[in-house]
Order: sequence, then C-alpha cells, then structure tokens
Amino acid sequence: MNSIRWCTDTINVTRGCVPVSEGCALCYAARQATRFAGPGLPFEGLAAGGFWTGRVGYFPDQMDKARKARTPQVYFVDSMSDLFIEVNSSDLILEVFEMMRALPQHQFVILTKRVDRMAAWLSWYQRQMEQRDLGFGECAVLPNVWLGFSAENQERFDSRMRAAHTAKELGWHVIASLEPLIGAISIASTPYDLDWVIVGGESGGLDARPMHTAWARDLMVESIERGIPFFFKQQGEYEARELTPEERFQYDNDDFRETNPYKLNRIASWTTLSSTEPGERGKVKHLFFDEGGNVAGVMERRKHKSRQVLTLDGITHEDAPAPIAFALRAENLRYAKAQGMKAKRGAPAKRIGKSTPIGEGVFA
Ligand code: SF4
Repeated sequence: MNSIRWCTDTINVTRGCVPVSEGCALCYAARQATRFAGPGLPFEGLAAGGFWTGRVGYFPDQMDKARKARTPQVYFVDSMSDLFIEVNSSDLILEVFEMMRALPQHQFVILTKRVDRMAAWLSWYQRQMEQRDLGFGECAVLPNVWLGFSAENQERFDSRMRAAHTAKELGWHVIASLEPLIGAISIASTPYDLDWVIVGGESGGLDARPMHTAWARDLMVESIERGIPFFFKQQGEYEARELTPEERFQYDNDDFRETNPYKLNRIASWTTLSSTEPGERGKVKHLFFDEGGNVAGVMERRKHKSRQVLTLDGITHEDAPAPIAFALRAENLRYAKAQGMKAKRGAPAKRIGKSTPIGEGVFA
C-alpha cells in the first residue's frame, strides 16, 4: 500500500526535477525529498530547503521492485521526478518503457508536465518500434501504461492537452492529474476524452493556494457526464463556506478596496486577504468572485489542519479505469487481510509495499 491512494507503490527510476510552471511552486516531491537529502540518504544532493537543486539522479535498481513483485501492482513511475525531463535521454526513457512492456501484469502511471517532450519521445519510440520485429499480438502502444499530464489551471490544461493529443492519436491511454488545482478548469473543450481525471488541492501550509470546492465539483460533473472515471484526492489546506451577512456587508462593496486593512493580491478568480500586522501572518482569507465580479464565497484554513479532507461535499470519489481499479481493490484486500492476521497474532501493524533501498548513480 502507498500513501498515494490511486496507486499501490512508486518506482523512482529518476529522482530530482526542475520547476516548469506555477503548479510547481510548492512542489510536494521537493519538500519530501528535502527530508531525505542528508549525507547517505536517498535524495542527497538533489533537494535542499524544500526545493530541487537541479540535479537528477538515476536509480535503475528501482525497476527491480516491479520485476520482483509477486502480485499485480499499480505503480506511479517517477513520483519524485518527471520522467520526461530534458536531461533524461531517450534511451533512458526507453529502458523504463521496456521494463513496463515486460511486465504486463502491472499497471504503470506516468505523470508529466513536459508534454511536448513526451509527444516527441512517443513519436521517436513509435519509429523505433516500427523497425523492430515485435512478437505476435505485440504493438508499440502498451495497454498497461497510463500517460498522464498535470495541469493547475485552464491555460496549462489547454496547452498540455493539445500536446497530449499526440499520445491519444497514437493510441495511448491519456489521463489528467489536475493537482494542485489553483484555478477553474473545464475539460469540455477537448476533442479526445480522457481516460481518467484526478483532482486535488494544494498542500504546503500557509503558502498553499486554495482550491475552490466548486472547481472540483464542476470537474466531477463533467467527468461523470463524459463517462470518465473521476478520483478526488483531497481538498488541500482550505475549506469553503458562504459569506456571512456581515462579511458580505464588509467586503462586497466599492469602498472595500480603498479602506480595508488588508493587502490585496488578486490572482485569477480569487483574491487573498492577508493581515499586514506583524505576528498575524496566519490570518488569511481567500475571497472568490463570480463571473460578474461579485464576491461569491470565502475559503479559510481548515479547522482540523492535521486531517486531510478526502471527500468532496462529503462524498468519496475514487473511480479509476477498470484495470487500475481491479489491481487497487485486490491489493487493498490483501493489505486488509495481512493486517487482520497480524492483529490476530498480536504483532505490531506494519504497512506492506515499503520502498526498497535505492542504488547509486547521478548524472547532470
Ligand atoms: S514537474 Fe512535478 S516534480 Fe517537477 S518541480 Fe514540478 S511539481 Fe515538482
């Protein structure tokens, strides 16, 4: 089992990254990597102070984890990097795809923000495969591989979806991870249907940006209407509520901007109100505006900060494409059974699917 609920384990053939867009500002992977970046630790030299250093490490031994697994798994490939980062050679990426081709019993999910590189690599890969004498029933496209792109707002979604069309045209599964969702996104304009939509808010404490519940709700409705499996990961650091009459009186008027004691930073369709008083940095509210420019709601930090909100309007959405859903369910059952047996024996509970030690090797 894995803390990422839509996979059963991770394989990090490469580690380390370089930010590419506003969605990377509070890169969760970089913050996690920093915790393990000391001498002799898995991310030594790759991260510091919550940011990537720009170096990328290559850990081919990670592929052995999938080769040795005895039960079908759902692997998130390069959760701590971006497989299509420019520094990764075409041959390195090919090695990963060859591994995935050799293990059809597993499902592999790859998420990238470098969709142009992915499209170019897929075309190169297609040519390589056309020159190769594939076995009976084999084709270049791997049905157990789910190529995903991440997008944080409509502009990024549109441009990355355009590049992802190449993958769709070649016949690959294409999924979208809309996390951290920091602006409204509609998937309605895409000519190709996605194979999976995953949505989540941003984590990262006081600096995290809010995801309005309405954005996630609209994506859920659009996905269901189109028959696309929808997975809601978590709400992020904030929760939405309606404005109180007092707040509407206070904020929703023309004088507000001139006279209020807060600093205004309008970003897309929401505005951050943060106290300028020393020692009150935690006092942040996000005001949301409707299309007419009227104040439509407010988000504040969750009251129970340690507890992630995994539901949308109180409902769990954990749909996944059939092969992934099947493998997740089977692994969950095995996990529950193992836990039950350990509890019966009185042994301390232990998570299964722990990371294996990594190998050596750094380039760039
Ligand atoms: S692409 Fe992904 S891993 Fe790389 S910096 Fe951005 S969020 Fe982090």
